[in-house]
Amino acid sequence: MLTLIRNAEVFTPRRVGRRDVLVAGHRILQVADSIPLRGAPLEVIDAAGQWLLPGFVDALTHPCGGGGEGGFGNRTAEIEYSGFVEAGVTTPVGALGTDSITRSLDVLYGKVMELRARGLSAFMLNGSYRLPAATLTGDVARDLVLIEPVIGAGEVAVSDHRSSQPSAAELRRLAAEVHLGGTLSGKRGTVLVHVGDGPRGLAPIDEALEGSELPRCVFYPTHVNRNRGLLQQAIRFAADGGFADITVSTTEHLIDAGEVPALEALREAIEAGAPRQRLTLSSDAGGSLPLYRDGELAGLQSASPMALLQALRTALRRHPDLVEAVIAAVTRNPADAYGLAAKGRIEPGADADLLLLDPGNGELSGVYCAGRPLLRPAIERTDSNLRQGVMR
Ligand code: ZN
Repeated sequence: MLTLIRNAEVFTPRRVGRRDVLVAGHRILQVADSIPLRGAPLEVIDAAGQWLLPGFVDALTHPCGGGGEGGFGNRTAEIEYSGFVEAGVTTPVGALGTDSITRSLDVLYGKVMELRARGLSAFMLNGSYRLPAATLTGDVARDLVLIEPVIGAGEVAVSDHRSSQPSAAELRRLAAEVHLGGTLSGKRGTVLVHVGDGPRGLAPIDEALEGSELPRCVFYPTHVNRNRGLLQQAIRFAADGGFADITVSTTEHLIDAGEVPALEALREAIEAGAPRQRLTLSSDAGGSLPLYRDGELAGLQSASPMALLQALRTALRRHPDLVEAVIAAVTRNPADAYGLAAKGRIEPGADADLLLLDPGNGELSGVYCAGRPLLRPAIERTDSNLRQGVMR
C-alpha cells in the first residue's frame, strides 16, 4: 500500500518547507519537493496548509497508572489507547514508577502489547523507583536481550525520599547490566532516572559514572526542571554528552514550589548553551499530580498524554521561536535517547509515524503509526485508480 502526502509543511523535525512524502507499507520511502504520480494505485492526501510532523515519542508514561504515594486512594488509572492516539503519541515508553508492589512488570508488558496490537509503537522499561530492579525474567540484562519491547530500566529514583537511596555502586551496576543487555540485543540500553527534589540532584549519576567505562548517555535523567539548581546541573549534563528530560505536566502548586515550567526550562537550557538535540520533553502521563487548596492536599489528578501536544500548542501561540525546538524535543531527541533509530524523524527508511497538524488551531487532523492510519483524514475517491484525499 502506497500513500502520498502532498504539499504539507514538513518538520523532519527540522522545518524543511513544503514537501511530498511517500509512504510504502510501514516505512517512509521518499521525501522530495514533488513526487510525481506514476499511475500506481495509491492514496493521495492533499495536506496543503497542514504541518506534517513525526509521531511523538513520549519518554516517560505510566500506561498502567501510577501514584499510590499517598496511600491506595492516590492510585491513578490506566491510560486508554485512544488517549495516546488523540495526543499524537505514537511511541509511548511505559514505566512502573513508585509502586512495584501492587503493580507489576507483567501487567505493564500486557498493556504495552495491547497498545501494540491496536497499532501503536509502544516500548517499556523494566525496574521501578526501587533497587534491586524489578524484572520479567529475573535478570535486568536478560530482559533486554529476550524481550523485544524492553529498551532499558527506569524510572529508578535518586535524590528522593521515595528512592532506595541507591549507592553509586548500585546505580553503576544497574547501568552496566542495562548497557550489556543493550549491547547483546542491538539496543541502546538506557536507564531513565527519576531525579527528586533532594539537594544532591544529579550527583548520584555523576558518582556512578566516575570510575566506570560507561557512556554518559546510559543515564537519562528526567524531571530536571523540578527546580532551578537541578536544571543548571542538567544543562551541564547535556553539554557533557548526556540527554536531559524536562517534565511537561505540572500544577500551579509545583510551580510555586520552584518547578520551572517546561517551555521556560527548554528556553533557559538552549540559551545556556545546552545542545538542543539532547533536550527532551515528556508527559509523565498517568503519574499523580497532587492538588492543593489553601496549602492543604485537596486531591489528586493524573498527568495526561495530551501534555506534549498542549506544550506544542502553547509554543505556537506564545513562543513561536521555540516551535522547532519543542517538536525536536518530543520526536527525534527522545528517540535518540533510547536509540530508536527509525522513530521520531521524517526521512527515507524511517517508520511512517506521522502527524498532520493544523498550525492555526493546533488540532491533529491525522495520526499514522507505522503507515497505519489511527486517526484518518477524510478521503474522497476521485478516480478508480487514484484516490484524492481532502483535508478538513
Ligand atoms: Zn518520576
